[in-house]
Amino acid sequence: MQSFYYDLHIHTGLSPCADNDMTPNDIVGMAILGGLDVIAVTDHNTIGNAAAVIKAAAVAEKQHGKSLLVLPGIEVSTAEEVHVICLFPNIDEAEAFDANLSSFYSLIPNREDIFGSQIIFDENDKIINNVERMLIAPTGISFDNLYDLTIEHNGVFIPAHIDRDSFSVISNLGFLPPHLKINTVEISQKGAEKGIGKSLVKNNSDINTIISSDAHQLWAINDKKHFFSLPELSADVVIDFLR
Ligand SMILES: [Zn+2]
Ligand SMILES: [Zn+2]
Repeated sequence: MQSFYYDLHIHTGLSPCADNDMTPNDIVGMAILGGLDVIAVTDHNTIGNAAAVIKAAAVAEKQHGKSLLVLPGIEVSTAEEVHVICLFPNIDEAEAFDANLSSFYSLIPNREDIFGSQIIFDENDKIINNVERMLIAPTGISFDNLYDLTIEHNGVFIPAHIDRDSFSVISNLGFLPPHLKINTVEISQKGAEKGIGKSLVKNNSDINTIISSDAHQLWAINDKKHFFSLPELSADVVIDFLR
């Protein structure tokens, strides 16, 4: 077994609340500089920049020989306003998932002046689009249906920052639904610092807890803080471990 350092909750400039310099190459550069082995791109209710970050990491590996595994992901806000991190083994599954989820997306237009811009980049950090729908608005999909859709696309369903007083499964539903086979939950960085962890998931002591940065700024991306032990590093192995 080997230790692999991760940060599986990172926003790009596509999330309105994230800095506009959260570009594919700057995220990849910061993660490599910090000594991470695997990251996930998790914008609010879109996977729009995941492919660009994956490509930027591939270019960085060719140019500098530093490898960084990038998992395509999304932070979905369910109809109950619970945030869930959904990660996928490859971009095709992530895009198929996104296509299915799109009928649940809110079409309320974004107010860029209030909430910030929602930028799609290419792998060279060139701005190629601005998304018009308000990405921070909750979707219409239920927590249970999102679980099913994620599993259908071979993804992993990770309730996000479950220790927070808002937008979390514990704050909004009161507990982790025991009828769903959830094997991993995320504790926020602040919660972890306060020692909050497995006490929140008392109905399942085998559950994995992971701690990620929820970075909205480049400086917030984790360095070598949290790791998991795996026989080798690949998207399938990481997804299998979390699922
Ligand atoms: Zn969140
Ligand atoms: Zn987030």
